[in-house]
Amino acid sequence: MTFVLRAGFQAGRRFQSTGPQASARAAALREAHGGFSFELTDQQKEFQEVARKFAREEIVPAAPSYDRSGEYPFPLIKRAWELGLINGHIPEDFGGMGLGIFDACLITEELAFGCTGVQTAIEANSLGQMPVIIAGNDAQKKKYLGRMAEEPLMCAYCVTEPEAGSDVAGIKTRAVKKGDEYVVNGQKMWITNGGKANWYFLLARTDPDPKCPASKAFTGFIVEADTPGVQPGRKELNMGQRCSDTRGITFEDVRIPKENVLIGEGAGFKIAMGAFDKTRPPVAAGATGLAQRALEEATKYALERKSFGKFIAEHQAVSFLLAEMAMKVELARMAYQRAAWEVDQGRRNTYYASIAKAFAGDIANQCATDAVQIFGGNGFNSEYPVEKLMRDAKIYQIYEGTAQIQRLIISREHLGKFKQ
Ligand SMILES: Cc1cc2nc3c(=O)[nH]c(=O)nc-3n(C[C@H](O)[C@H](O)[C@H](O)COP(=O)(O)OP(=O)(O)OC[C@H]3O[C@@H](n4cnc5c(N)ncnc54)[C@H](O)[C@@H]3O)c2cc1C
Repeated sequence: MTFVLRAGFQAGRRFQSTGPQASARAAALREAHGGFSFELTDQQKEFQEVARKFAREEIVPAAPSYDRSGEYPFPLIKRAWELGLINGHIPEDFGGMGLGIFDACLITEELAFGCTGVQTAIEANSLGQMPVIIAGNDAQKKKYLGRMAEEPLMCAYCVTEPEAGSDVAGIKTRAVKKGDEYVVNGQKMWITNGGKANWYFLLARTDPDPKCPASKAFTGFIVEADTPGVQPGRKELNMGQRCSDTRGITFEDVRIPKENVLIGEGAGFKIAMGAFDKTRPPVAAGATGLAQRALEEATKYALERKSFGKFIAEHQAVSFLLAEMAMKVELARMAYQRAAWEVDQGRRNTYYASIAKAFAGDIANQCATDAVQIFGGNGFNSEYPVEKLMRDAKIYQIYEGTAQIQRLIISREHLGKFKQ
């Protein structure tokens, strides 16, 4: 099974979505489907199938134990790497599969069905890598993405600080140029894969002038995790997704070579924010995977549990709750697929990415809560799978931009269309 997807991908290249043959095929599809199609390609179905099998057969049985112990699920991550289910978007020139965001989302949804703690640990790699993918030069890509295609390594996106989360421009970590190096001092917080990363994407302030606009004041760096002065703190004990590794990190006189600057001094804010257009659709896909799991667990239970002489699914109140959950899951899936598809077409998808992230984050919480309701007393107990879903779901309304920040973006984008 090793490198299943990677091998399949190579073999299936002639069906890829580039080149004249592919355009002809796309045109034929448009013709057949009136310009719009929900049909996945054979290759996308294969990605989905491999991820689904792995999630259901290997992640689902292991998840409760990782949730209890909080242990980092490295064996599962290694297995996902071997199957080609991780780092798929690393460009082919640097050893990856060069998958689009849409394809990556299909995989993410399936992994999240198994356990969103595992999925978040995996997704943090995409978030850490994305600034390098969108802004790195060839040497940086070869060095930092290339090594992740060669072995199952983790990386992290190091932006949030104890005093600044939503307000990214409020970060205080300073990078001061000294000769051919930058010296960094500061404190980061809530960094996923913080203690497991091989390298970090780091955002730091390079222009100390408080009047300098955010678009010029910050610089993005790649930092080797073993650089002297990089000090990850203790693993945080979170409400959910407990096997994911979240830490604060102190940077004390950390010397970073100037070769590790992304694009140039002052370009960091745009890079750090730009990454979200490509990472929010997968976060939404993760939330959708959790909601799908809640729906499936609740449905199976409702078809087994009896009250008042019939299966609880036969009480209209319960079946309508399931119907509401099904509606939400279907719409969240369409939302992340639209956001992913837009960015894969090379279009600005900020509006769609925030809609998908906000909607899927909310419905993951609603579906998990409704699943607990359908399980009754058993739903409140850790012997059953749904209380974990309820704890795990909450973070989807917080990280990668809170539910409120997404609404801020959506309203800004929406109103902008009317003000033009
Ligand atoms: C488990 C976990 C993993 C994380 N992983 C990472 C990571 O890998 N890398 C990283 O850099 N960060 C990471 N984060 C940080 C995360 O992105 C932030 O926690 C998040 O952006 C919110 O910032 P904050 O916690 O400072 O909350 P605050 O910004 O203090 O917000 C507090 C509350 O105020 C609301 N609020 C704030 N400003 C506004 C506004 N203008 N309008 C309306 N409401 C507002 C917020 O929505 C929220 O409800 C992670 C966090 C957690 C908990």
